[in-house]
Amino acid sequence: REAETRFIELHPESQRLHKLSLDSLPGGNTRTLLHTSPFPIFMRRGKGSELWDEDGNKYYDLVGELSAGLYGHSNPTLQKVLTETVQDVGLSLGATNVYEQRYASLLCERFGLERVRFTNSGTEANIHCLAAARKFTGRRKIIVFRGAYHGSVLSFGSGVAENNIDQADWVLLQYNDSEGVREAFSQNNDVAAVILEGIQGSGGFISASPEFLRTVREESEKRGALMILDEVMTSRLALGGLKETLKIRPDLITLGKYLGGGLPFGAFGGRGDIMDVFNPLTRGALAHSGTFQNNTLMLHSGYAGLSEVYTAEVVQSLNALGDGLRQRLQQLFAGSKLCVTGQGSLMCVHITKTRLRAEQITCQDDVTAIEAVDLKQLFWLELVNAGFWVQKRGTITLNIAMSTTALDAFVEAVEEFCKKHRSLILV
Ligand code: PLP
Repeated sequence: REAETRFIELHPESQRLHKLSLDSLPGGNTRTLLHTSPFPIFMRRGKGSELWDEDGNKYYDLVGELSAGLYGHSNPTLQKVLTETVQDVGLSLGATNVYEQRYASLLCERFGLERVRFTNSGTEANIHCLAAARKFTGRRKIIVFRGAYHGSVLSFGSGVAENNIDQADWVLLQYNDSEGVREAFSQNNDVAAVILEGIQGSGGFISASPEFLRTVREESEKRGALMILDEVMTSRLALGGLKETLKIRPDLITLGKYLGGGLPFGAFGGRGDIMDVFNPLTRGALAHSGTFQNNTLMLHSGYAGLSEVYTAEVVQSLNALGDGLRQRLQQLFAGSKLCVTGQGSLMCVHITKTRLRAEQITCQDDVTAIEAVDLKQLFWLELVNAGFWVQKRGTITLNIAMSTTALDAFVEAVEEFCKKHRSLILV
């Protein structure tokens, strides 16, 4: 109550704007994930790793636009290239252009792909990837994992979401269940692909075990199905994406988020023989179109970001920043219901029923305690009131503009939360 009263006092303008939005947007909302109670905060602007809301409150941005905000707000390199592109090149040209060849070539080199195609979002990248797998194998079924998020119409958070496409064709398994994968293949001889995240991002940054990934790779290969690794969130974790760290060779991968340099983006690619299902020179090729998928702003900003800003050294330092933060939080949470999972700059604070260490969390069922809902809301309210922009479900993604001062302040605020609500968080 006290935290909510404070929240309402601090955000009168957000409350007013929310009421206004109810007239034109369902629930005042256009991104379900951003809906919060008692009302959402309306942000006005961002700079570096900071945000200001419509009431003039300042926040350190730990949401990082769900990992798409890797460069921070108003990165000078991206700002310059975007301004120059508007001035000198123009917006979408409605024609093939050299900028798409240049960025495609960089993505292929960086992520070890033979061929790549652009889309407008990670969701679309996954949809087209699944279409490619079906066309290439001539099969229908797709193995997916509970807790997976491959985009808004490809969400497997708690069972198959009602807005999922082609519901009948999914084989839904538990994440990290190798035996389940073997069994599913032995019971279904028409599996086109297995699609999975190396770390379930929206599911709470839960890592796949090396053994599980090996099983998926071996079983799919043995049964003539494709392995699709969704790297929409995880491609930032190593120069060549998480698959480089995992030492795994998926047939196709999907990309998104920060790789658009701040603009809407998705891409998918991998083996040339599979990607050739989109080759318009061959008979019966799959069509894959989208008005903005070779737009000049994204192609310039994405290219500049990846080639000039997110270099090998920056990948390393961002990972180290995240690893350091997670270690400090882990120490704070020792002996409590709180726990933090993740890798590098991607992490999630969980509130579990019993005391769990990060390594004990292997699937979403481990972290969906109904009893924790109120505590999660309290955690969110207290941190937002203290000037830290975090996500209500506990996801944190860091950006390269983040200072250690900001993270020190964040750890202090979390420590304050733990002290103040000690009786609630102890098991
Ligand atoms: N795949 C993963 C792993 C994601 O985390 C997301 C978005 O959060 C998507 C796909 C969908 O990307 P987009 O929101 O660009 O459609």
